[in-house]
Amino acid sequence: MRIAVVSDIHANLAALEAVLAGIDAESPDELWCLGDLVGYGPRPSECTEAVAARAAICLAGNHDLAVIGKLDLLEFSGEAGDAARWTREVLTNAAREYLDGLEPAGMRDGIALFHASARDPVWEYVLSDDVAEATLELAGTPLVLVGHSHAALQVAFRDDGSLDGGLAPAGTEVDLAGGRVLLNPGSVGQPRDGDPRAAWLLLDTDAQTASFRRVDYDIERTQTEIRAAGLPELLAIRLAGGL
Ligand code: ZN
Repeated sequence: MRIAVVSDIHANLAALEAVLAGIDAESPDELWCLGDLVGYGPRPSECTEAVAARAAICLAGNHDLAVIGKLDLLEFSGEAGDAARWTREVLTNAAREYLDGLEPAGMRDGIALFHASARDPVWEYVLSDDVAEATLELAGTPLVLVGHSHAALQVAFRDDGSLDGGLAPAGTEVDLAGGRVLLNPGSVGQPRDGDPRAAWLLLDTDAQTASFRRVDYDIERTQTEIRAAGLPELLAIRLAGGL
């Protein structure tokens, strides 16, 4: 099976549309989403509805849980809190109901999925080999997919004892056979790994490969929408740098 994996869309509709066009060109069997459909960005209902219409599985992220009231907004500081409060005001009932039915962890076809990590599916960032290994051990599956850090990452613990891991720039291809592998597709709507393009991942469970993809999108359109919504300026500025 070929699966397109997306995460951390953050209500950036221009980025999501560009990623979905890239996905359509590959005709995968399924789309999976690792959470944070909303928060930070200006088009939360449209992004939620687009994912709801297409995703075979979708997790809840910390921002999704905050917007529907399952997490206290006091846990979100500065721009994140401001954007979550704004999102609560504008979210449609249909989008709210969809987010309300999601969980931060899941399992599909023997692949463990977490918005954040196995130890803490809502909050823990997997940004080191140690934390990646802890998540792989706790999950107990050969392949684990996580989001949350907004960085495209791959960490592979091979059967021969070797380890390779780190940022996975556009074009990175990972062999999933012969070890345990943790992958983060990167963020659709607010990349923080230095590449401002929207990120997604194409998995092929038959060929045992994963391919990291990036697509250009109209960043200025999203910046204009952020300003028109009255969301914090920093949320517009950071999109241009991918930081
Ligand atoms: Zn996020």
